[in-house]
Amino acid sequence: MRATKEAAGLGFETATRLLNESGIAARVLWESLLLPVLGIRPAGALHLPGELPDAGEVARSTGQLFTERVNLGSGHGTFPARLFLDKVLFSAYRLVLPPAVYRSKLAEMSLNDTLRDAPSYRAHLDWAKALGLHVYQVSARANAREIFFYTSHSTKRDLDKATALRHRIRRRSLRQLDTTKVRTFMVYPEEMSPEYVGLMGKILGYPDCCIAAYIRDRRGDIFYPELRAAGQLGVKGDGGQPTPTVDHPYAYFVRNFVPCRPDCPEATALGRKAASALQEMDPRLGRAYLDGLLRNRGAIERAPTLIARREKAIALHLGRAAEQEQAEKTTAADTEEEKP
Ligand SMILES: [Zn+2]
Repeated sequence: MRATKEAAGLGFETATRLLNESGIAARVLWESLLLPVLGIRPAGALHLPGELPDAGEVARSTGQLFTERVNLGSGHGTFPARLFLDKVLFSAYRLVLPPAVYRSKLAEMSLNDTLRDAPSYRAHLDWAKALGLHVYQVSARANAREIFFYTSHSTKRDLDKATALRHRIRRRSLRQLDTTKVRTFMVYPEEMSPEYVGLMGKILGYPDCCIAAYIRDRRGDIFYPELRAAGQLGVKGDGGQPTPTVDHPYAYFVRNFVPCRPDCPEATALGRKAASALQEMDPRLGRAYLDGLLRNRGAIERAPTLIARREKAIALHLGRAAEQEQAEKTTAADTEEEKP
């Protein structure tokens, strides 16, 4: 461990600077950046803009830029002369692209430009470089991006494979949209593919038994494995077999990971290994990591409430969209009738 540590220049000084870093969320630092450096997982992920410390502000700026660009493209309102070229470009896009593709393109450009200027985004890239990590960026959807921090070329090959697979699945899913599935999987259809989920699990260093349990859930009636995991922790509304209570949270070794059971030996071993490596680097890092483990387990305990809330919000949104569509159809029909 000492060799890896020294190779990455991870000493007391680096630890102090890491602990004082305000541009990166604490758990992203330990789990997504340091664990790959310490050789405990092949890669760590970061979801943008959601996991940036200033996610709200980045999302707001992206939204403003997007609205400005939609207005420029449609020629509504006045605009300063310096935006003339943008106006020409966006108007051209609007003419040649289908409406949904046009809006996605503007949304993606707006996110890219906002991120480029965001100090928190830069902080991630600067730290990755300082720690000797490679960075792999991929667009998750028009207004979201995923970053992977990794060390080896074989992980890069797996990431390329996963990206290609995701594109294939999305193209296929657009052709055969199944609206009976839970809404999340209309946006992220790859989440239903055992091949994709398995590959991602390998990239992120999840134990095989936990990946298998996750895939089993998705193949069965449990769309959200977090609900099964919450049940195993004794949370009400469970979908799984309760196992004896475990008093340590080591199996929850990184956020967004769902262990096959609260005492999974493989995941617990990873958590213990990570805790002792960070503890050895600096006791303050060790304590911060343990605190993060408790929060990871807490997130699983709260999952049933959060998922129910999210599903309700999406249903409401879809209901409103359907109502609006119906209203537009009615108005169009009325207008038709009024014609002489
Ligand atoms: Zn497991």
